[in-house]
Amino acid sequence: MPAELPPEKVEACGHMPSCDRNVDSGSHVRAHDCTTKSGVDKLYLHVDMDAFFASVEERDNPALKGRPIAVGGSSDGRKGIVTAANYTARKFGLKAGMTALEAKRRCPQVIFVRLDARKYTYASAQIMDLLEGFSPDVRILSVDEASLEISGVVWRFGAPLAVGQAVKDAIRGRCDLPATVGIARNRLVAKGAAEPSKPNGLRYIVPGSEAAYLAPLPVSKMCGIGPATEAALGKLGFKTLGELAGASEELMKLRFGVLGPWLAQMARGEYAGRMQQDDARGAEEKSMGHERTFAEAVSDRSGLRAWVVALAEMIARRVRTGAMIGRVLTMRLRYSDFDTFSHQSVLPEPTDDEETLILHGWKLLDQCWEKDRPVRLLGLSLGSLTPKGESTTQLNLFVGRQIFRREALYKALDSLKDKFGEKIILRAMGSSKRAGRDFITFGKP
Ligand SMILES: [Mg+2]
Repeated sequence: MPAELPPEKVEACGHMPSCDRNVDSGSHVRAHDCTTKSGVDKLYLHVDMDAFFASVEERDNPALKGRPIAVGGSSDGRKGIVTAANYTARKFGLKAGMTALEAKRRCPQVIFVRLDARKYTYASAQIMDLLEGFSPDVRILSVDEASLEISGVVWRFGAPLAVGQAVKDAIRGRCDLPATVGIARNRLVAKGAAEPSKPNGLRYIVPGSEAAYLAPLPVSKMCGIGPATEAALGKLGFKTLGELAGASEELMKLRFGVLGPWLAQMARGEYAGRMQQDDARGAEEKSMGHERTFAEAVSDRSGLRAWVVALAEMIARRVRTGAMIGRVLTMRLRYSDFDTFSHQSVLPEPTDDEETLILHGWKLLDQCWEKDRPVRLLGLSLGSLTPKGESTTQLNLFVGRQIFRREALYKALDSLKDKFGEKIILRAMGSSKRAGRDFITFGKP
């Protein structure tokens, strides 16, 4: 346990007076020893990197420190979109998703830094690697966010806040980057604890005080409540999570179906929704696929192969999001005269790996496409899906670790795409048509 905490924002919320801003208080430590040893409560730690891309850039170019910077956009601020703004720039209202032009208008002295996806992915992999040392259960949520189950490690550090501080210190020590940490009894509340504590924050929601902590927050602060749900809740008079927490089950069911009661439970901190249920998600989907109708029929092999790559990437991403693996790959092909065929291939083993899907997709294409015949529609789907955890594939430790690395990278890339669109990172392979000056290519050709 650290003898003294650095002068950072260290907060604890809840009823135990000894928790407040004093991680070393003896009674605090005892209280949480009891909590975790009871075996009843689980504890989760949420790590969220502060202004991640911008912080990496600041770290690598100290001349940027303290100055407003925006990652993305052209250096003259005439073109492009801001993908991250540091906290100095945020004071001027700059944020991710804003056009560079608007950013420049709000803050004329802003410095635009070129987006460097490789650098952020590398830093992300370093951080995730380090988190693995803290817990055997690390869930990578995006390029700069992860959720760890820490119930089993709290005793080593003495108290939940001490684990949080150790995680922050480790990230600072290895990567020289600031992170905010939230700790709570479920993953969603832990994320909710981190969010308002940024930047460089640390907050622990004492079990039992979740509802009290969440109550004053606007419903939009709850991960999973988007603008549409926020508006619908607003019409019912629910503006804060406290108001939502008290909603009647009947009303919620009537208005939102099965989701309704869950929303109220989330607002009370009793349910973590999708964040806790990732593994079950998508279990009912037996196949996932995409197809593309071309405005102009495609009749060259390389053009079709490029589309196989694009479709396989989309499928792999969806399958991974649902924590599934699938074994049957189906290609659907429609010629200009509307003749339609579909062909299937059973993969050697269930997978969520896009390179495997691409290679087998190319094989299917060669098997079923009549050379030079113009194709109007191309579809690819992965079927016989099963939840990933149920796979019986045995992996030795070495291969297992390699796959973990690859998965961490995929997750990081997926989240970049979620945030900034499919074209933010393109595989060099097969993407020549789509790749333009503004796009970044990633991966080996
Ligand atoms: Mg972040």
